[in-house]
Amino acid sequence: MRTTIKAPATIEGIGLHKGKPARVTFLPAEGATGLRFLNPAFASPLPALLNRVSGTARGTNISDGKTTIYTVEHLLSAAAGLGIDDLDIELAGEEPPATDGSALAFAAALVRTGLLQKPGLQRKTLSIADRLEMTNGTTRCTAFPSHGVSFKLTYDYPHPLVGRQVVEFTLTPEEYLANVAPARTFGFSHEIEALKAAGLALGGSLENAIVIGEKEIIAKDGLRFPDEFARHKLLDLIGDLALAGLPLKDIRIEAERPGHASNVNFAKLLSQKAIPNND
Ligand SMILES: [Zn+2]
Repeated sequence: MRTTIKAPATIEGIGLHKGKPARVTFLPAEGATGLRFLNPAFASPLPALLNRVSGTARGTNISDGKTTIYTVEHLLSAAAGLGIDDLDIELAGEEPPATDGSALAFAAALVRTGLLQKPGLQRKTLSIADRLEMTNGTTRCTAFPSHGVSFKLTYDYPHPLVGRQVVEFTLTPEEYLANVAPARTFGFSHEIEALKAAGLALGGSLENAIVIGEKEIIAKDGLRFPDEFARHKLLDLIGDLALAGLPLKDIRIEAERPGHASNVNFAKLLSQKAIPNND
C-alpha cells in the first residue's frame, strides 16, 4: 500500500548554497504521484526523477528546463528513508532551508505529521536480478539482490582527523531516523573560500555544517557520531537514489567514496537494470 503524509508541515530557514531565506512545505499527495517538487516558477509539479537532474556540484539540483532548484537530496533522503511513496514538496525559493545540515528536521516533521496509508493504490518498488557494479576513479558502487534493503558505505579522506569511516545499516524508518537523518553535512576549511567564490556555501555556517580544519573539527555541540561523515554520505546516497523514482526493495548497496555525480549515475544504472515490482 502506498503512503503519503497526513497533513502539511512547513520548515523555514536559509538555503545552504545560495544563503537566501528558504521555506519548504511538505504536502500530502492524493494519487500515485511519487515524490514531486512544487515551486511558484514551475508550470506544473516537477517529478523528482533522474531525467530532471541538472547538476551535481556539491549538491543535487533538478530543473524543469527553465528554473533550477538546488540541494534537493536531504529532502528526498528524508522521504525515501521513511518509506514515503507520494509527497509534494513545495519550495518557496530555489533551495530548501539548510536547517542543521542534516535531514533530521525534515524527517522529524514528516514523522510528526504522521504517515497515511492509501488503500487501493498499489505500491511499486525497484529490485534487481543480478549484481551490478560501477566504478569511476576511486569511487565504486555495487548492488546485489538481497533480503530487505541494506547499505554499506565507506568514506575516506587523506586527513588525520577523518581517515576511513565505514557504516552499515539495514534501512528501516526507525534506523534511518536514529542513525542516518541526524548526520550533518561537512566541509574542509581549505575549501570554503573557493566554494564561496564559486557561489556555493553562501549560507554555510557552523549552524548548518561541520568544518574540518587542519588541526580540529569544528562541530556545534560536538560530533553526533564518531563516523558522522560516512553517515552523512549515506544520507546523501539515499536521497540521490530516490531519483530513480521507486523505493528500493530486496537490495544491498555498497558504496565506496561516493559523491552526488556517482550517486546519480548509479541510480541510472539501477533504473536501467531494475525489475519493477508491484508489492
Ligand atoms: Zn548532504
